[in-house]
Amino acid sequence: SGLEKHFPIKKGLLQRQSGAVRAVDGIDFDVKPGETLGVVGESGCGKSTMGRLITRLLEPTGGKVEFEGVDITHLGSGKIRPLRRDIQMIFQDPYSSLNPRHTIGTIVGAPFRLQKVQTEFGVKRAVQDLLELCGLSPEHYNRYPHEFSGGQRQRIGIARALALRPKMIVADEPVSALDVSIQAQVVNLLDDLQRELGLTYVIIAHDLSVVRHVSDRVAVMYLGKIVELADRDSLYGSPMHPYTNALMSAVPVPDPKRRTQRDRILLTGDVPSPISPPSGCRFHTRCWKAQEVCKVQEPPLVALKTGHQVACHFPENAPEDTAKPSTEKA
Ligand code: SF4
Ligand code: MG
Repeated sequence: SGLEKHFPIKKGLLQRQSGAVRAVDGIDFDVKPGETLGVVGESGCGKSTMGRLITRLLEPTGGKVEFEGVDITHLGSGKIRPLRRDIQMIFQDPYSSLNPRHTIGTIVGAPFRLQKVQTEFGVKRAVQDLLELCGLSPEHYNRYPHEFSGGQRQRIGIARALALRPKMIVADEPVSALDVSIQAQVVNLLDDLQRELGLTYVIIAHDLSVVRHVSDRVAVMYLGKIVELADRDSLYGSPMHPYTNALMSAVPVPDPKRRTQRDRILLTGDVPSPISPPSGCRFHTRCWKAQEVCKVQEPPLVALKTGHQVACHFPENAPEDTAKPSTEKA
């Protein structure tokens, strides 16, 4: 709640003023046990920082993170260790996140050895079970990362994340470094593992199509804020925020006849700097629906129907009686 991460920057050659990069700038959301929350937005919108905050790889500068009712916002290194077992992170790049000099057995077994929960014999058996669970072979135990394809390396990364039987996994762009043909396989593996192990997921992607099939709910981020948060079907069926509409129109449709369904919206202008984000609605500099009120008044994230929140003064696809600028009285 009210989650914030500001990275201070010093006055220097490139920066005329000291200040802060407001990477995550006051967001509220929850993740329910067993569900998948997709988080989508362009690069620089704060989604990776958000992932690192909720896994507590980063400490928030404001707001609060609770896990199973326990406040973990400022846990010190001593108290964070048990939490590391419950919440794991999978990273984008399976190439750089696996040490090339270590065998798969060393890599996937590392969490066991760190937490000293098994004998060496037990570690080997547990690692081999994990490899099988992730669609690899127990014989891969003594091999090295360079012997594997990108998709296999991401499976190794997933096996390592599962070692300590976490309850929640935060996956930061888990398939964006992979060939499109391999992406579906890895997404399906995550889906199967969730069903088998009862995992809770937060899956971060820059692309709405990646999270579509696995998410129960989707949050759309822009410049450090959540601009829309909705049940999957509600979001994809009737997106309310102009930014979500723009992202959605950029998803290629396989059948060109269906192009007419949603006309391509081209966003003009660059993403503004997170050091001094625009006043009012942060999207107003690129929004084709922007009015005067948008420049001065920040729209709050509000539920316009059950399971569908949006932060916009002039939402699209809104239920009739709510499609009014929030400054006007109904
Ligand atoms: Fe566009 Fe205004 Fe809505 Fe922001 S509040 S998305 S500028 S219409
Ligand atoms: Mg990122």
